[in-house]
Amino acid sequence: MVRPENLNDALKTLSRGGMTICAGGTDVMVYPPENARLLMVDRLPELKLIEDLGDAVRIGAAVTFTEGIESPIVPELMKAALRRIAAPAIRNMGTFGGNIGNGSAKADSVLIDFVLDAKLELASIRGTRTPDIDKFYLGRKKLDLAPDELIAAIFLPKPKGSWYYEKVGGREALAISRLSFAGVIDVRDGVITSLSAAFGAVADTVLRFKELEAMLTGKSLDEARAMKPDFIAAYDRAIVPIRGRVSETWRKEVCLNLLRDFLSQNGI
Ligand SMILES: Cc1cc2nc3c(=O)[nH]c(=O)nc-3n(C[C@H](O)[C@H](O)[C@H](O)COP(=O)(O)OP(=O)(O)OC[C@H]3O[C@@H](n4cnc5c(N)ncnc54)[C@H](O)[C@@H]3O)c2cc1C
Repeated sequence: MVRPENLNDALKTLSRGGMTICAGGTDVMVYPPENARLLMVDRLPELKLIEDLGDAVRIGAAVTFTEGIESPIVPELMKAALRRIAAPAIRNMGTFGGNIGNGSAKADSVLIDFVLDAKLELASIRGTRTPDIDKFYLGRKKLDLAPDELIAAIFLPKPKGSWYYEKVGGREALAISRLSFAGVIDVRDGVITSLSAAFGAVADTVLRFKELEAMLTGKSLDEARAMKPDFIAAYDRAIVPIRGRVSETWRKEVCLNLLRDFLSQNGI
């Protein structure tokens, strides 16, 4: 195990190969990789910062969920999702970067990264790049992350307007998502200026359909109400759930019900 004191040393070590990045270890230590040496990033000072950038928040990848919940600048929508993650012991260890690095469509903070169009800051000794979250996820457990790169931070835009979040688990507490949904809508003078809706734990990655969201953007609430059946029908066609512990039919039905509820709560 190696625990560098700063990001530069961590990136140099990572570039030599043979290391597994470990932050809180709440995923890595469940099935520790054989013969891999752990590169501990949990205490890198550069990855522990939360900064207010005005329209967005920059959250260091090694910030824990508890630190996120306690921060006055992390958006309430993200906090709503963080509060539903596991139990305090996991929230004290689990990090934003580890949730993304795990590559799961069930990762609760990742749903919020998707619905808010977050960007990631990836660092290596070659420099940094900032892909959009939806471009970073290539499939189940497949990430656009080079072997010498690590996630340094998440740029999370602050939600405009009102938001909706729901996680459906097997039980109220300590449940991995069976399905999760987040929606954000901004209505100005009775006109929808922006709308986004994301579905977690339905497919191999978090689902968003920007072309369907565009159906209601620029419409008045009256127009949106008239279009609601077509809007829901379009999502019915677009969502193709994976099979899992729960049936595809159940997943689809819950997705559409949550979407309906999100719209109803916003006068549509
Ligand atoms: C009992 C239990 C309950 C759980 N409940 C939930 C839940 O309700 N919701 C939920 O979303 N998750 C849940 N999890 C999963 C886990 O806690 C989260 O995915 C957590 O965010 C992982 O963070 P970590 O820092 O512990 O990651 P680690 O275990 O350290 O790493 C996870 C993965 O990310 C990679 N990684 C870590 N940091 C970086 C980085 N900076 N750059 C690049 N790659 C990196 C690692 O190499 C590894 O592949 C649960 C886990 C357990 C054990």
